[in-house]
Amino acid sequence: MENTINGSVVVITGASSGIGRQTAQYFAAEKARLVLAARDVVALDEVVRTCMEVGAEAIAVPTDVADEAQVVALGEAAIKHFGAIDVWVNNAGAYMMGAVEDVPTDAYRRLMDVNFMGTVHGTRAALREFRRRGRGVIINVGSVAGKTSYALAAAYCASKHAVHGFTEALRQELVGTGIHACVVAPATVDTPLFEHAANYTHREIEAMRPIYPASQVAEEIVALAKHPQREVTVGAAPKMFAVLHGLAPDLYERMQPRMVDAEHLGDAPREDTPGNLFGATEPHHIDGGWQARKAGMVSLSELLRDGPRSRPQ
Ligand code: NDP
Repeated sequence: MENTINGSVVVITGASSGIGRQTAQYFAAEKARLVLAARDVVALDEVVRTCMEVGAEAIAVPTDVADEAQVVALGEAAIKHFGAIDVWVNNAGAYMMGAVEDVPTDAYRRLMDVNFMGTVHGTRAALREFRRRGRGVIINVGSVAGKTSYALAAAYCASKHAVHGFTEALRQELVGTGIHACVVAPATVDTPLFEHAANYTHREIEAMRPIYPASQVAEEIVALAKHPQREVTVGAAPKMFAVLHGLAPDLYERMQPRMVDAEHLGDAPREDTPGNLFGATEPHHIDGGWQARKAGMVSLSELLRDGPRSRPQ
């Protein structure tokens, strides 16, 4: 039986930009009652306004998901305002690139605190209410980087592997309870994630093709709230990478660093930055503008060829 979204109380972390912002708007279009969390109060208030404009109820609860007390307070605010929680989307996350030796230790810790512990805090806050009611849906936003890994993103891949492993174990604890734990694994999504990213590569970060719109992930999240499933991937890339990784790990590991070099990093030099790890940074749009900037597909032959590579246009 399909869960009804109309009137459901949906908590979304990371709702101020990108996937979370688009997801909030899609739930709003179906008249969910929304509890929206992120750190940037101005951006969150804008999202609340756009949700109310289409007739949904929505509140903003400024929250840093790395802080357990703030996430507990987020759950309490949902109950206080709407009396229940039906769906909890752990979407807040940060991105980071840099060689294993170049990333500062505090950046490793903080990335895990946001991406992994943020998911843990959100899940536990949701479970308090879901266990009491004997139902509810937890949707954790993982990544293709939670299934396979790639060079210069070791910490991010580790944080997303942690989200995937955590959700799988949780699902086993929830068998027979009426509570669902789902994971969404997108490949590259066109959001401001890469502009927000912590960067210790000394080069500009670009979105790696193929690039999918945030709307595709948001649609999957709303669909999961209606029909919970173990895991959904967004786009063909996660499946393709997982198959290649399983069948030919040597080839995969030879290809990925070239893919990162040719596709994920541009030529312009960049100073080290912690990006939005320790505080919100602009912009807070849904769209990152990458699909417009990087059309087409990277060719497999280019990635496997030895010698100098051509730069992406
Ligand atoms: P954005 O950077 O656009 O959005 C990230 C959101 O998380 C923002 O709303 C940001 O808001 C919030 N956030 C970041 N840190 C914290 C924090 N400590 N506490 C609370 N909120 C926080 O990126 P995306 O929309 O792309 O990312 C959303 C999720 O999707 C992330 O988990 C990401 O890892 C995942 N993902 C993204 C992919 C992509 O290619 N874009 C691919 C696969 C997965 P604020 O700064 O206001 O706090």
